[in-house]
Amino acid sequence: HLPVCECHPCYGGSDCSEFLSDCVANAGSGDPLFLEPFWKQHAASSAVLVSGWHRMSYIYSDGSYISELLVKHIIKVHDIVGNAKTDGKYVIFGAGSTQLMNAAVYALSPNSSSNPAKVVATAPHYAAYKTQTEFFNSRDYRYEGDTSLWKNKTDGSTRFIEFVTSPNNPDGKLTSAVLQGSNVKSIYDYTYFWPHFTAIPAPADEDLMLFTISKLTGHAGTRFGWAIIKDADVYERMLTYLTVNTIGVSRDAQLRALKLLNVVVEGEGREIFEFGYTTMRDRWIRLKNVLSKSKRFSLQKLSSQYCSFFQRTRDPSTAYAWLKCEREEDKDCYTVLRAAGINGHPGSNYSADDRYMRLSLIRSKDDFEILINKLKTLVAQS
Ligand code: PMP
Repeated sequence: HLPVCECHPCYGGSDCSEFLSDCVANAGSGDPLFLEPFWKQHAASSAVLVSGWHRMSYIYSDGSYISELLVKHIIKVHDIVGNAKTDGKYVIFGAGSTQLMNAAVYALSPNSSSNPAKVVATAPHYAAYKTQTEFFNSRDYRYEGDTSLWKNKTDGSTRFIEFVTSPNNPDGKLTSAVLQGSNVKSIYDYTYFWPHFTAIPAPADEDLMLFTISKLTGHAGTRFGWAIIKDADVYERMLTYLTVNTIGVSRDAQLRALKLLNVVVEGEGREIFEFGYTTMRDRWIRLKNVLSKSKRFSLQKLSSQYCSFFQRTRDPSTAYAWLKCEREEDKDCYTVLRAAGINGHPGSNYSADDRYMRLSLIRSKDDFEILINKLKTLVAQS
């Protein structure tokens, strides 16, 4: 018997087998628990044990607070997957890509309160680019809305910093920068640029690229991400930010990341990416099947594409469904789904219309099954 405290929130009873019918399907946050079964299969090889007297120092033996061994592992992962060019580039660590986003904005901004950099992104986009930039409220940079407002207006002396998410959160599409010009700098957020979620058409070779283990291994709670940086000055400025802010990333988090990436690179990454891809593809197929019967709801269109990692054309798989409510009266799609016992995120969280909403597909198997059941009922009633 499992203790009751270990039941999924939608199940009760002494052995967690009783479905609680008033339970709400959790398709909200992008907690990547879909990878938990993979790590259960690799429990011993991924485990970390640290004695109390171990690794107490601020620094590694070379005087740095960035593990060189971990940098080598990260480069190996990118070489195996073929999703980023790392030759001659700098690698820096952050507490998830979340910390690196603002480090990057700081590093790309001019030291000029009279002409602050404009931070922009293309809707629908990940909310934190806006919320974080506004929260830090710097004299050197400001969030200035959608790229569509600034097309053909980038010629002046103002620095533009464009966040590009590829594949995009929430709609899973591969994207590239919209703005052009010598004053435009891009931050490529490649959080989802892994074979679980997308075809890898070619290695990315952008000036500033962000990655995280959150959506690669699924260890969002470890809070470990990295940036790959072409320019030495930008690297130095990001290093300053990380030093002033937190004196780098927890050495324990670095050790755990090292252990996890060791398992990822086993067998050239075949096992984890086959698992991630087939899990996400199957979820997408099932979701599409349920909604294909509906005129009330539609999903984003994703197509099969050649993947250099799998060396074949692969079906779509995506971290999130970007659902649209098609009926004229369903202007608030989030509320429509919420009334049917499904919790997602409203479109306005992504600077988009509330006729859209995001459903997370990367949560646990239980969360996904409950989502599918609730959607089946909703579609049958509509
Ligand atoms: N960028 C995007 C597009 C994301 O979706 C997320 C996480 N949901 C992050 C960055 C932040 O990830 P991390 O856990 O590494 O801070």
